[in-house]
Amino acid sequence: MRSAFGASELAVAPFVHEMPGVRVVFGAGRIDQVAAEAGRLGGAVLLIAGRRQVRDADRVAAQLGRRCVGRINEVTEHVPAQIAQQAVDLTRDSGATTVVCLGGGSAVGLAKAVALELDVAILAVPTTYAGSEQTPIWGRTVAGRKITGRDGRVRPRTVVYDPTLTVDLPAELSAASGMNAIAHAIEAAYAPDASPITALLAAEAIGALSAVLPVVVREPGNLPARERALYGAWLAGTVLGVTTMGLHHRLAHVIGGSYRLPHAGTHSALLPHVVAFNAAAARTELSGVARAAGAAGPDGLGAALFDLATANGAPTSLAGLGLPATAIDDVIDHVLVAGFVNPRAVDAAGLAALLRDAVDGRRPDVGAGDDGGVDVAGDATVDPPRVQAAADRAARRVSA
Ligand code: NAD
Repeated sequence: MRSAFGASELAVAPFVHEMPGVRVVFGAGRIDQVAAEAGRLGGAVLLIAGRRQVRDADRVAAQLGRRCVGRINEVTEHVPAQIAQQAVDLTRDSGATTVVCLGGGSAVGLAKAVALELDVAILAVPTTYAGSEQTPIWGRTVAGRKITGRDGRVRPRTVVYDPTLTVDLPAELSAASGMNAIAHAIEAAYAPDASPITALLAAEAIGALSAVLPVVVREPGNLPARERALYGAWLAGTVLGVTTMGLHHRLAHVIGGSYRLPHAGTHSALLPHVVAFNAAAARTELSGVARAAGAAGPDGLGAALFDLATANGAPTSLAGLGLPATAIDDVIDHVLVAGFVNPRAVDAAGLAALLRDAVDGRRPDVGAGDDGGVDVAGDATVDPPRVQAAADRAARRVSA
């Protein structure tokens, strides 16, 4: 009997899959279980909260009673080194062995800075869609430049997702943060260490987020919509935590860390252009997420994401966020010095065109990707003399 399928549709590409065990407690009202969940981790608790989460942190502190031995009620984006050190000192002095953090990626980031230095377990209660609560990635800003790394000790052991904590997230920030989550899932789809499971999670995350963001933006208090969005963010954070990100995250990291642009908005403005840039080099890998996002195919995905951001009031222009066109050369220098993996080889000219479009907020053409220079999952950077010159310039600036 002849098969109805071609060989390529039946084949399963080789993969390695490893998923760490993070305990996830999800549902409206789950904030009332934070003290019990912290009890499973044991010991005294240091409580970190973003400024907008102080009232919720008060509730958690009341649950914890005398087990709460210290509090930090303000966090700063991108974890400045000095603030990280203060948090480490406070935790050490308090004797806490568990850090509970409530807030967006900035609150989680500060807890991770503590876990990098001290033997503490993190319990995260995220209130945005950033996804840091599922990852072993830490970041900190030293002398104006953001450095990041991966370390299993900083990955939260327990995550409590309570959608009621997200209903106050303003509509524009909800949309931008949702685009941030979608960016994790997009880059997971073409990551060199993707697996069939991460591919499913990425497509599910994008399907959930792209369908629900319009509802969240129209009705921020719609709890079922908030539940669906947080569910998508959980899945996107999960794939962010177990795969290797490419050009998009490298660009967002450089621009956000060096130019102090808002993290989620930067992702939103960049994503359509990186997707358009990579589409032709990752057609197979992007086909599932393109379908999930409602795009005709990978070549139309960049434009579809631009339209999604525009329709929901998420940023589409880096200039609108404060990045001047004159910064493009500096960004390129910093992006090209670091090795990273990307479906399509990256050179200065391609990057300049991509960044000009992202700065101006131009809608990507459908089918803008081209097959030239395709280097699937290869090392991204070419043009070694330019890379060396960029490294020299970057080193001079950092030491200045
Ligand atoms: P954020 O945590 O800085 O929050 C943005 C703003 O939203 C803040 O003013 C905050 O007070 C407010 N906010 C948060 N939740 C709210 C709520 N429910 N209601 C009302 N206001 C609320 O922003 P973010 O985008 O969540 O995180 C950005 C930071 O996280 C960056 O430093 C980024 O590098 C980092 N990050 C790290 C990872 C990782 O894996 N390490 C992943 C994603 C982001």
